[in-house]
Amino acid sequence: MIPLTLAEIADATGGTLDHITDPHTRVTGPLSFDSRHVAPGGLFACLAGSTVDGHAFAAQAVRDGAVAALTTRPVDAPAIIVPDVLDAMGRIATAVAAAYTGTVIALTGSAGKTSTKDILETVLSQHGPTAANERSFNNEIGFPVTVSRVMPDSRYLVLEMGARGKGHIASLCQMARPRIATVLGIGSAHVGEFGSQLAIADAKAEIVRALPDHGVAILNGDDPLVAAMVHDTSAQVLLFGTGSHCDVRAEEISVNSHGQPNFTLHHGHHHSLVQLRVHGRHNVTNALAAAATAIAAGVPFDRIVTGLTEAELSSGARMEILQRADGVTIINDAFNASPESVIAALDALADMAGTNRRSVAVLGEMAELGDDAPAWHDKVADKVLAVGVDRLIGIGGAHTLRMIGTVREGSGHATEADSTIPLAQHVNTLLQPHDVVLVKGANALGLEATARELAGMC
Ligand code: ATP
Repeated sequence: MIPLTLAEIADATGGTLDHITDPHTRVTGPLSFDSRHVAPGGLFACLAGSTVDGHAFAAQAVRDGAVAALTTRPVDAPAIIVPDVLDAMGRIATAVAAAYTGTVIALTGSAGKTSTKDILETVLSQHGPTAANERSFNNEIGFPVTVSRVMPDSRYLVLEMGARGKGHIASLCQMARPRIATVLGIGSAHVGEFGSQLAIADAKAEIVRALPDHGVAILNGDDPLVAAMVHDTSAQVLLFGTGSHCDVRAEEISVNSHGQPNFTLHHGHHHSLVQLRVHGRHNVTNALAAAATAIAAGVPFDRIVTGLTEAELSSGARMEILQRADGVTIINDAFNASPESVIAALDALADMAGTNRRSVAVLGEMAELGDDAPAWHDKVADKVLAVGVDRLIGIGGAHTLRMIGTVREGSGHATEADSTIPLAQHVNTLLQPHDVVLVKGANALGLEATARELAGMC
């Protein structure tokens, strides 16, 4: 963390020091809130969960190396007592960001934030120390924890921002004050909650509205709702995408036999062939977003190309490839399932199967789509037919049954998962050697476990 004294933290949070002998003691490590992962030199935040109250672990956390605890009441350890621990974490993040002199980069979009953050982190690291969210740790707890991880020598701080309602991104930007803001795409994820795609776009546009005049907005030129955000900022704008109007462009996109995309990256007079390690054509968009962001952050073109080539995704269940001894390939993309990501994953399935292998899609019902749910399930059914999936296995309720019906009407093979036997077992009975199987659904369906089980079944 950018060092702050306990007195400075008390000042920033409106807290009082308790059991503290020297208020000038510096906190140099990040915020932590899990007593099993206490950061030495950091501050242990005592959050009260529904079953466990962090206050019970304050003394242990200090014994394990925390300088003090952040609490709402006196504990048997040095503490800064505040009215509200979560609010105080936000205030500490604000103080850290204010003291940080490197470049803060904020990133949002309906799908691909974590994937892009992973790629961008690898690219920026080619040019200087980079701090970023761990995995997809971007909620109201994860955000201040990430900001607190920035070090005095960090050249870049990358912050993934999910929009949880109008005003949320604006408040995160007030905390962290990004100089570069990147918007990936406006999809239909959480449309049920926001009401419309326009409302989602408006909430995400807060990220560019927060930019200072000397900032840079990195916008997806292939997504009209994102490209229109050029009117939401007086900062410089860089467009990325495949259109000729884009400043950072991919041309000649293709996919190798392992399903990994390659393309020619263009910016100004620079151009280079890029072969990605990550799977799925949609990651070209994410790679372009990372490249454009890195250009705005001053990373030389050749280092950007190296970073893109080396980048991998940080955590499983996003386009993770599992290989079986019988030649069956499983695409574990079970982290979540918005319509855009299902459609992107079906493209990846078709690319990997090519013309020689059978393709099987195990799809969970898509949630949080409001009144548009039937239409989106129809679109997915159309995609299943368009890319020629050999077999669809659907899991869920009425929308899934409708999707299966539409696929069958289009002469495709589709069945409902047999609820009387474990899903992996059911899917396995339908497989032949060398099949390519996509497993995808909302995280809550637990399909990641199915994918792993399936991978061990031969
Ligand atoms: P969340 O908000 O749920 O954390 P996210 O925006 O961080 O998601 P990722 O975690 O990177 O996105 O990916 C979520 C899903 O979307 C994965 O299935 C991934 O394969 C898919 N995905 C990633 N990038 C894109 C993209 N550009 N277009 C469509 N789907 C994508």
